[in-house]
Amino acid sequence: MLIIFDLDDTLIDTSNCITPVKFQRAISRMIEQGCSLPDGEAALNLLLKLDQESSSAREALQKFITFMGLPDQYYYIGLKEIYDTFPEGIAIKPLKGAIETLLELRLNNLLALVSVGKVEQQLFKLEKAGIDSSFFYKIFISEEQNKKKYYQQLIEELKLSPNEVIVCGDRIATDLVPAKELGCVTVHMKWGRGSRNQEREEKVDFTITSPMEILDVFRKIKNEIIFNGVQRDE
Ligand SMILES: [Mg+2]
Repeated sequence: MLIIFDLDDTLIDTSNCITPVKFQRAISRMIEQGCSLPDGEAALNLLLKLDQESSSAREALQKFITFMGLPDQYYYIGLKEIYDTFPEGIAIKPLKGAIETLLELRLNNLLALVSVGKVEQQLFKLEKAGIDSSFFYKIFISEEQNKKKYYQQLIEELKLSPNEVIVCGDRIATDLVPAKELGCVTVHMKWGRGSRNQEREEKVDFTITSPMEILDVFRKIKNEIIFNGVQRDE
């Protein structure tokens, strides 16, 4: 089988390792550029709280700017810091069990990574988290949100039936809905923003809260395929 993973908040702990550091830097940069935020720590806490209720860091920052009544220029300064820069010294952790799970799955399957973001940043995160890029048959990193074309490309080039493909990610709309449309098996990783995606859960086949649980999903799917095969043979 082919198992396609998302990166942020699926294999690495973006929400806890990266987001707070980037927000802290965005606020510092805004203050440096003259933004009136007398209590930097309170500002960071507010931004983190707003992020909990937002679908992206961009949306959280926009809400923060509006709430604080700040001029728009600071939105762009913050946005640049969040999306265009990357703190080199940052410690990035894989989700617990992610590396072990990949090692086990790759013994008898192909793995792929499809991630939205900047190529250098995403590869840097992989390396920092200790996830060897050679685990993956293919890695696609794109700045546009459309993952469907990469899923489709993988399915076609490997001549797989979509039900031999598992797609695992934390964002239902961008990671899993396109996979479901292609007929792939979808696994929702409830982590970070993905853990607050409750309203759309009916669109996914399986829900997990840690990478290791994908091994159980995998066994269930394999059993189903074998069982269906036996039924057809009878
Ligand atoms: Mg993600």
